[in-house]
Amino acid sequence: MSRWLCAIEGCLADFEDVESVLAHQRDEHESHTCKVCNEPVPAGFFAIKHAFADHTRAEYVRHYEANSDAIRWRERITRSVESALDSEDGSTAD
Ligand SMILES: [Zn+2]
Ligand SMILES: [Zn+2]
Repeated sequence: MSRWLCAIEGCLADFEDVESVLAHQRDEHESHTCKVCNEPVPAGFFAIKHAFADHTRAEYVRHYEANSDAIRWRERITRSVESALDSEDGSTAD
C-alpha cells in the first residue's frame, strides 16, 4: 500500500489513501488564494489542479515564479493523484 503525504508546508500528515489526503487538504487547511486569478481554492492538490487546469503554464510560471522543476514536480503529483483516483474507482476495496 502506498502512503500519501500531505505536502503542504509544515504539515506532512500521512494517509493510506488518496481520498483521505484530499479530504484532509480541503477540510483541515485554509484555502489558498490563487495568485493568477485571486480566487480562493482548497489548498494542496486542488490548488495545483486549479492552476494547471484553469491557467496556462506560462501564467503559472509568471505569478508563482516557478521554474521547470517545480512544474514537473506538480505535474507528477497531478498524474499520480489522478491515476490513484482512477484505479480506486475501477476496483472495490478488498
Ligand atoms: Zn495537511
Ligand atoms: Zn486561478
